[in-house]
Amino acid sequence: MSLFVALLACFLSTTIFAKTATSSKPTLVKSVKFTGINKIEIALTNKATNFKIFTLSNPERLVIDLGNTNLEKADYKPALPFFVKSFRIKDDENSLRIVFDLTQKLSLKNINFDPKKNLITGEIDGIKNTPSQTNNDFISNKVAEFEVETKKVINPDGSAKYIVKKTYKNPRIPVIVIDAGHGGKDPGTIGNFARSKEKNITLSHAKELGKQLVNTGRYKVYLTRDDDVFIPLFLRVEKARKKKADLFISLHANAIIDHEISGFSIYTLSEKASDKRAELLAQKENQADIINGVDFSGASRDVMKTLIDLSQRQSKNSSSNFANNVIKSVKTSEIEILQNTHRFAGFVVLTAPDMVSTLIELGYLSNKEEEKLLNSIYYKRKIAASLVGAIDEYFAKNKI
Ligand SMILES: [Zn+2]
Repeated sequence: MSLFVALLACFLSTTIFAKTATSSKPTLVKSVKFTGINKIEIALTNKATNFKIFTLSNPERLVIDLGNTNLEKADYKPALPFFVKSFRIKDDENSLRIVFDLTQKLSLKNINFDPKKNLITGEIDGIKNTPSQTNNDFISNKVAEFEVETKKVINPDGSAKYIVKKTYKNPRIPVIVIDAGHGGKDPGTIGNFARSKEKNITLSHAKELGKQLVNTGRYKVYLTRDDDVFIPLFLRVEKARKKKADLFISLHANAIIDHEISGFSIYTLSEKASDKRAELLAQKENQADIINGVDFSGASRDVMKTLIDLSQRQSKNSSSNFANNVIKSVKTSEIEILQNTHRFAGFVVLTAPDMVSTLIELGYLSNKEEEKLLNSIYYKRKIAASLVGAIDEYFAKNKI
């Protein structure tokens, strides 16, 4: 069976067209593009007469061999996906070879030539985007966002060589820090029915959101904790600042005496809480530091005021804009949302003046149905997907 699969894979990854001796004008490559999540497209000026696309190992490469073909133009600039490190071109009189150096082992399938469009297409199989984990940090794969310029050099024997220069188009991609509220000796709120601990709910939701963000290939993502550990509030903000975060999202779950109340809610920082409930919530979430023997709330008025004074209007406005994006996205995802959800309160974790910061209460652990939902994989994925939508929209409008 495995031999059969190997033979089949070999057959699929190597499609050879018979070379036509009559073609006098060489075929030119118009473009090589990586599209969608896993597609490769090679556009030609006319029929492909002889081509092979295959992968090689040690080091990992993706090779395109085109017979009787040349590049249409020398300034060839494909946008490379994260799984491609660099590429090389060898242009000889009768053949063209393009080699893409890969960051991981990949294979090809469904290679096809469309004679109407003069387009070779193929699918790249086995793309892994698994985040690596070190020191409580959740680090995304490096995203290759660069342009490639090639310069054509004619060799003395008449053959051409291309010198490839890689320039970073946008060396900075948005950095997102996700803060799973509470942890370790601070369990946060406890569910009234299944006795779920807030610290576990926030961690599992943070991991799901991190995974989905990394999978877009558009963000660098870190978690303030990826384990059941206690981290003081100010350290959470410090961690985010060290990573030069553009966006900081602190995840929590709420509880209230009235077990009927349920729904997602979002908060940003202000000197004055928007209402009594928001203020009480901020007080409750800020209590975490007392557990570590430091009574933050005692000194909080002055400390908070200083921190808040530092906070630039710009950062607060951006946080508000982001919160509005989240509300819009959550509403379209049909996730239950608390009425008048965007509230302002003095949360310690939202005091960083230099990044967009928001605190999300995912729902109420005091509501039987919502406690169940918050524990379900389905709901974790749904909330995370909705947040990814809001984040995408935010960074599409607000370039870093
Ligand atoms: Zn909390």
